[in-house]
Amino acid sequence: MTEPLPCPFCGSTNIRAHVYGGGEPDAFMQCHDCSADGPNGLNREGAIEAWNRRTQPAQVPTLTDEEIERLDCIPNVPGIQFGDVAKFARAIEAALIAKMGGKP
Ligand SMILES: [Zn+2]
Repeated sequence: MTEPLPCPFCGSTNIRAHVYGGGEPDAFMQCHDCSADGPNGLNREGAIEAWNRRTQPAQVPTLTDEEIERLDCIPNVPGIQFGDVAKFARAIEAALIAKMGGKP
C-alpha cells in the first residue's frame, strides 16, 4: 500500500485520509497539523497518490524575527510584547501556507 509523503507545507507525517461515499472523486488526504489537504482522489489510494504528486506551493517569504521587528506596520502598543506580535505573524504565515496548500 502506498503511504502518504510528509506534508509539503509543514513536514508533518500526521496525514490522514478522508473518504466519503457518494459522488466522485470522494477522498482526500489532510495534514492534521497545518490543515493542508487535497487534491481529491477516487478512493483512499487515489487520494494518497494525488497527495504524493502535488506540487510544491509558491514560496511565501519567510521573515526573520529581526525583519518582523523592523516592520513599520507593527504598532507600539503598551502591554503587547514583540514576542506576541512575532507569534501572531508566524500564525498568519502558517495560515497563508496552509491556505495556498488547500484545494488546487
Ligand atoms: Zn502540514
